[in-house]
Amino acid sequence: MWKPALPLLEFWDLYHGLIIGFAALGAVLLFNQWIYRRRWQSYPSLDEYLAAHPGCRTADGVVCNACRRKALVAPVPSMGRIYRCGWCDSELYRIDRA
Ligand SMILES: [Zn+2]
Repeated sequence: MWKPALPLLEFWDLYHGLIIGFAALGAVLLFNQWIYRRRWQSYPSLDEYLAAHPGCRTADGVVCNACRRKALVAPVPSMGRIYRCGWCDSELYRIDRA
């Protein structure tokens, strides 16, 4: 009689929901990074963004041109940083790595 005595299988049974969840999260993050890198040059620089939307420079910092709220920063390794609006989910501008 074959008995599943593999601890790895038991571990999988107990935590597969968690493992799949983390794997999916990691895949989404990696995919976002890949998209950001691929499209890097298509994002406007801060100067270009402010030239296109002069009203977006406020005393509080640079805001989203669509909903006027403050942008969130997302680091992109080896490229720089992307500022995106977490409220209306639009990408705003990029800061190239110095
Ligand atoms: Zn917005």
